[in-house]
Amino acid sequence: MSPDDEVVTFASELIAIDTTNTADAGGPGTERPAAEYVAGKLAEVGYDVTYVESGARGRGNVIARLAGADPSRGALLVHGHLDVVPADAADWAVHPFSGEVRDGYVWGRGAVDMKGAVAQTLAVARQFKRDGVVPARDLIFAYVADEEAGGLNGASWLVDHRPELFEGATEAISEVGGFSVTVGDSARAYLVETAEKGTMWLRLHARGTAGHGSLLHTDNAVAKLAAAVTRLDQHRFPLVLTGPVRDLLTGLSEMTGIPFDPDDPEPFVARLGHLARMVGATLRDTATVTMLEAGYKTNVVPSVAHATVDARMLPGRDEAFKEELVKVLGPDVEPEWDTMPAVETTFDGRLVDAMAAAIGAEDPGARLLPYMLSAGTDAKSFRRLGIRHFGFAPLRLPPDLDFASLFHGVDERVPVDGLTFGTRVLARLLTQA
Ligand SMILES: [Zn+2]
Repeated sequence: MSPDDEVVTFASELIAIDTTNTADAGGPGTERPAAEYVAGKLAEVGYDVTYVESGARGRGNVIARLAGADPSRGALLVHGHLDVVPADAADWAVHPFSGEVRDGYVWGRGAVDMKGAVAQTLAVARQFKRDGVVPARDLIFAYVADEEAGGLNGASWLVDHRPELFEGATEAISEVGGFSVTVGDSARAYLVETAEKGTMWLRLHARGTAGHGSLLHTDNAVAKLAAAVTRLDQHRFPLVLTGPVRDLLTGLSEMTGIPFDPDDPEPFVARLGHLARMVGATLRDTATVTMLEAGYKTNVVPSVAHATVDARMLPGRDEAFKEELVKVLGPDVEPEWDTMPAVETTFDGRLVDAMAAAIGAEDPGARLLPYMLSAGTDAKSFRRLGIRHFGFAPLRLPPDLDFASLFHGVDERVPVDGLTFGTRVLARLLTQA
C-alpha cells in the first residue's frame, strides 16, 4: 500500500474524532482518542511510540523517531497538531465532524488545519517503516495537543517538560505553508512559511467614576474605553517591508509581469486576489479588538471596562509597537500584554533545496517562494529549543480556491488530489532532506 492510498482514509477518520479545543487550559482535553489513533497506526508498523499527556487529563501528545543514514546531521522534526477550533454544524453544508469525502474533497473541521497534514505525515511515516526506508537524517514525528490555545498542554508544555524528546532536532516542518497559489493563467508557486508575526494578547482596562446612569458624567469608563478602541481600530501602523514579504512580492511580480514598487507595495498586493488579505496583513502590525466587557445594569455607570485585542507584530517591531500602542490608546486606558515573539528564518539550505526538488519532481515548472504567516503556530514553542521552522505541508490547490478563508472557516475542506499530491512530495522530501 502506498502512502497516498492511506492518506485520505486517515484524514477522514481523524476529522471524525471531535478534538475541539475549548481553550480551557486546565480542563480535560479532547485530543486523547486522536492521539491514540495516531499512536496505534505508528505502533502497528513497528514504531516505538511515546505517548505523553500534560498535567491536564486527555491532552494526548505522540512522538516517534526514525533513524536516518547520517546521525551526525541534526534531526528533522515533523510536527502537527491534533486539536481543532469549534465548529457549529448548523452553518455547514456537510457535518463538520463527518470527514465525508464528497465532490473530490475531504470535508470537515481540521481538513486544512491540520488533520489533512497530520494524515500525510502519518502515511509517509508508515510507508518508510514498512519499506525499510532509511531517510538521509533522523526524523522525529510529533503529533501534539492544544495548538489552537497556544500549546500550553502541547508543544509549549513538551518543550518545557520533555525537551529530550526533541534532542538533536535542528529544523522542523509543519503548518502553514507548502500550498500552491496559481498566478496569472496557470503558473504555480508554492509558498513556504519562513516567518510568522509575533503575537500579543492584549487586555485593556479603563477606569472611571461609578454612579447613577441618570446623572451627568464626565468620567465614564465605558465611554473612555470605547473611544480608545475606536482610535485603535482606525489607526494604521507603519508599513514595513520585511525580507520574506519582499521576496514573495518580487517572485510574484516576476511570475505575473506586474511591476511591484517596494516603496509602495499595497497597490500590487491589492491585485493578488484571495492572497491579498493574507499578504496585506504582513505589511504592518495589526491590532484587532475582539472582546468587550463592561457594566451590569442599565442605570449604573460601572467603574471599570475591559477590552481584549488580538495584536500581531512584524519581526523586530515589539518595542516600537508597544510605544505606538500606548500613544494611540491614550492616558485613560491601562494596557496589559502577553507577548510571543515573531519567528523568522532564512530561505536557504539543504532542506529548502530538497523542498524545491520534491515539488519540482511532482509539479515541474512550479516555483517555491517564501512568505510570512500573519498568525502563529507551534513553531513559536519549538523555536525555544533553537529549531528552525518552515511551514511546509504540501498541497496542490485548484486555482480558484480561497484557501486562507478555510482556516477556522465554515465548510473547511481539502481536495483529495491535493492531499495525495502533497503526500508524494513529502515522501520525496523526507527521504532526501
Ligand atoms: Zn493549525
